Amino acid sequence: MAVEWTITIEGKNEFGDVCRREMSITKSWESLFDGDIGFSIDDGKKIMTALQSAVVDHEAETYCLFRRVCPDCHTFRPVKDYTTRRIRTVFGTVKVRNPRWMLCRDCYPGMDVAFAPLMVICPDRATPELMELTARLGSMMPYRQAAKVLAEFLPIEPTESYATVRKRTIRVGERLDDQIMRETWQARAQADDRHQLEMQLPGDRRKEFVISIDTAHVRSSERNSARNFELVVARCGRGGRGEPGGRYFVSSSTAQHAIRDRALHALEGVGYGGFGDVTVISDGAEILKRLPRAMPKPTTHIIDWFHIAMKIQPMQQIADHIVRSRSGLFERLPTIDRDIKAVKWRLWHGRVDRAIRDLESLLARLNQPQGEAEFSIARLRNLGVQLLSYVRSNRSAIVNYGKRYRAGLRVATTLAESAVNSLVGKRMVKKQQMRWSLHGAHMLMQVRTAEINGELRDRLRAPFRQPEPSVPPIFKPKPPLLRAA
Ligand SMILES: [Zn+2]
Repeated sequence: MAVEWTITIEGKNEFGDVCRREMSITKSWESLFDGDIGFSIDDGKKIMTALQSAVVDHEAETYCLFRRVCPDCHTFRPVKDYTTRRIRTVFGTVKVRNPRWMLCRDCYPGMDVAFAPLMVICPDRATPELMELTARLGSMMPYRQAAKVLAEFLPIEPTESYATVRKRTIRVGERLDDQIMRETWQARAQADDRHQLEMQLPGDRRKEFVISIDTAHVRSSERNSARNFELVVARCGRGGRGEPGGRYFVSSSTAQHAIRDRALHALEGVGYGGFGDVTVISDGAEILKRLPRAMPKPTTHIIDWFHIAMKIQPMQQIADHIVRSRSGLFERLPTIDRDIKAVKWRLWHGRVDRAIRDLESLLARLNQPQGEAEFSIARLRNLGVQLLSYVRSNRSAIVNYGKRYRAGLRVATTLAESAVNSLVGKRMVKKQQMRWSLHGAHMLMQVRTAEINGELRDRLRAPFRQPEPSVPPIFKPKPPLLRAA
């Protein structure tokens, strides 16, 4: 015993033309005993593929026909040739007729130009939705895994492998990257006007814009380059601690102007208009120190408080131990724990010169022969020397953290660190055997950031929303004209 299920799809356009397709699925009674209740994923794939082919066929035909009409004289354009084109959709691949039309000879005399209308709505041979879905999965998990997930639920062709996923992800990344470059150029072109315009606004409430920035190390796949390269990862937002963190950006270019352009682009997304207080918080890495100098004024650079605190913490532990143990060392250094606490307190309040002096005298005391427990003294000295050189090389970027903290402002790059983790870490660093090309890593990260910024879909669909310049404002061909085709 078996039941044949018939699924019919029927579409009717405004001219009354009916498009209809049928497909059937037979389900045997026996399969019920195997627990096969209802349609399976495979049945679903078959059904959706059949229905999709009817819809895509009809839409491709109609769109090509619509584009065959010359917008100037409303007659049919001449045919150049017909080929077939495979359009890959989330519900299977559809082979459609792919005509190329010539420009109208009366309206464009002497212009021997042909165009393929389907190229306009489907430039990639895969629909924008499939491109986006593939890229999104490819940006979240290894390419091989993404290919498997896609094939699990969707009628994807067996030829679509991890290589397809990688190719599409990088293609989408390139498109996003181009968009950001274009927007950056446009913003720069308008910068002067906007600057003056906003400066005249009375009572403008100035609120701090914060760039939390960090770097991530990625293993390189390129033979003739260093083993690692760096990605700059940042989150740009406005407001203080506890407020939403703002927009992400990632760049594989560590050039000063490249980081600045990305930062400005991200800041503009949160309302920055070329002026206003900008604060860059970083761990003091050289490539990040260049950013504040390239930014519009006033921009201040501050060192992430936790980087300082983390350097002091092990010193404090050793000192506390010395004091607790009441050993011979304690007799020589009875205030060591309070001395280190004092250095931390001075740094927290931005009293850098005092902190440096205190640290120097502390190190001088540690230098004297100590006898027993040399090891902990040597370690303490080592840590102290590191802290001193860190503080010295970043002295201008160590501010009054206490004051900032009390005012509710940010003092740490926790935002950037979580960005490194959620953007780069999970996808690129945790799997140690993975190696990346600079280009591939950069483009993958453009997809990932667009997704996390919640704009991947909008950014990819935007080009399709632009009005087609050669289409007349009201397209109303008479039915006989359509039927004649
Ligand atoms: Zn014409």
